[in-house]
Amino acid sequence: MSEMDVQFVEPHLLDLYRELRTVTVPPEKLQTGPVVPEILETWQSGIPMLYCHPPQIDVESFFEVLEEISRILKQYHPDRSEDVNRILAALPAEAEARSKSVAEVLRRDGEWLSNFVSEKDLPEEMVGFMISLTLRPFLRHFSAQLRESLDLESWRKRFCPVCGGHANFSRLSREIGARTLYCSLCETEWPFARIGCAFCNESDQKQFRFFTVDEAQRYRVYVCETCKGYIKTIDEGKTPIDEKIELFWEDVKTVHLDLLAMQEGYENKIAEIPAYGDEVKN
Ligand SMILES: [Zn+2]
Ligand SMILES: [Zn+2]
Repeated sequence: MSEMDVQFVEPHLLDLYRELRTVTVPPEKLQTGPVVPEILETWQSGIPMLYCHPPQIDVESFFEVLEEISRILKQYHPDRSEDVNRILAALPAEAEARSKSVAEVLRRDGEWLSNFVSEKDLPEEMVGFMISLTLRPFLRHFSAQLRESLDLESWRKRFCPVCGGHANFSRLSREIGARTLYCSLCETEWPFARIGCAFCNESDQKQFRFFTVDEAQRYRVYVCETCKGYIKTIDEGKTPIDEKIELFWEDVKTVHLDLLAMQEGYENKIAEIPAYGDEVKN
């Protein structure tokens, strides 16, 4: 990372994400069955792998990761310690309920989340944040285990082929005309149409524009007037040819662009989970 990149972001935030990223789980804590042709067929019909081929997560490992994430959050945000502690205290203690809650969380069932939050009067955004940070190390393994079996070139949908989430970053490759979307939850990147909204069905070019900030022409923020969504994008053509671009860090380093987009009235769609659910409703 160059110094120029760092000046945009509070060092504190980068340190927080660096530390969060050290929280890992052994791959065997997530079990995935073989990807048989029937599963691939279902996946090709547009069902993300998390739904047509759900993995088994070791329940106690899930809670261990959650504790570790909570410790880090409290260290960086002491002002939110009380909220984090209340959330931890509200988690089920009994084995069957613990196992059920992990299964619901893994399915990213919005109903389970809203019941949990309202019954115990918890801060919803903090619960969602803690859960998605906890799921990340597991879903990273899930994506890595599946990647070889999936023909991502054939997917080309607005939601993640592995976990069904929204993309929160995209990449314009050096190759003319190629764009990929990136899901930060499971770290999957997949090809998508160069033109068209990554959140709604809009493909009318007049509805899109992008802005850049002068200091960093390498980033574009595409906004859609139809759904008011925005997506941060890296233009590889504006980066040194030998630079290894990791979208995870590009996303963290560009929080200033999220703030700008939100100030302009655009929404961070990543908060609406899961994207795949919207598709089913539409
Ligand atoms: Zn994903
Ligand atoms: Zn849109």
